Amino acid sequence: MNWYFYTIIFLAMVSTSFSKADQEQESRYKTFSESSVRKCSMMNIHKPSFNICLSGQATGTDLERAQNWSARASLTWLRALKVLDEKVTRTVLFTCKDPHLTINLRPGKGTSHATPSYTTIYLTRPYGTWTHELGHALAGLGDTYVGGTAGSCGGQPPSLMCWGAYGPRANPEEWSTLWPDDVQAIQYNYKRVFPGNTVEPVWGTETNLEAPLNLNEPWPTRNEEVYIEDHQVELLRGPASEIDTAEDTESVDL
Ligand SMILES: [Zn+2]
Repeated sequence: MNWYFYTIIFLAMVSTSFSKADQEQESRYKTFSESSVRKCSMMNIHKPSFNICLSGQATGTDLERAQNWSARASLTWLRALKVLDEKVTRTVLFTCKDPHLTINLRPGKGTSHATPSYTTIYLTRPYGTWTHELGHALAGLGDTYVGGTAGSCGGQPPSLMCWGAYGPRANPEEWSTLWPDDVQAIQYNYKRVFPGNTVEPVWGTETNLEAPLNLNEPWPTRNEEVYIEDHQVELLRGPASEIDTAEDTESVDL
């Protein structure tokens, strides 16, 4: 044996340990690239209000629910950052002037999807679709499911970004729909795009981010404010959409 032989053995060991580390990294949350995260709604959360533009088509009843669910889903993600940094805004404003997040409402069944700061959501989809799609558009997170179907988590830890609208934490009266993996993921992205000092609120560590969010008081400081200024939704006649909670639905979210 000579030095050459030992070098080869050494390199083989090093490369094995690197690939193992990479696998461990891959088995957790996935995020967009930093340049894509910088196009997401999260970049605006130090502004006086978080502006949501609702567009598309909906009946009056569905529009009212869309406002409620989009404020609640946004504040659910913001709460996971507010515990890190008091600078995160406490106000949601529905407006299509200078929107930070645009939600395109579609009646009926279909595949909801999202890109940075923009999502299309079908109005028969359950609440978890809203938090999941905002995980992409607002938080800059990727899907963690395998094989193109939400809920196939493979070796992944459970997460909203794997389960989508379903799974053991789908009920928003019991859960925020976020799992620890999702919370770690958005906090990781926040530190990427806002490096530097953060001021943690005194109540930060006492807050259970997995518990349902109360829209009237999403965190203990002061009552939140949700204002409605305008929207671009074409109002349709008709009853409220029936929410499709069946897991074998034809509507699969991306
Ligand atoms: Zn997705």
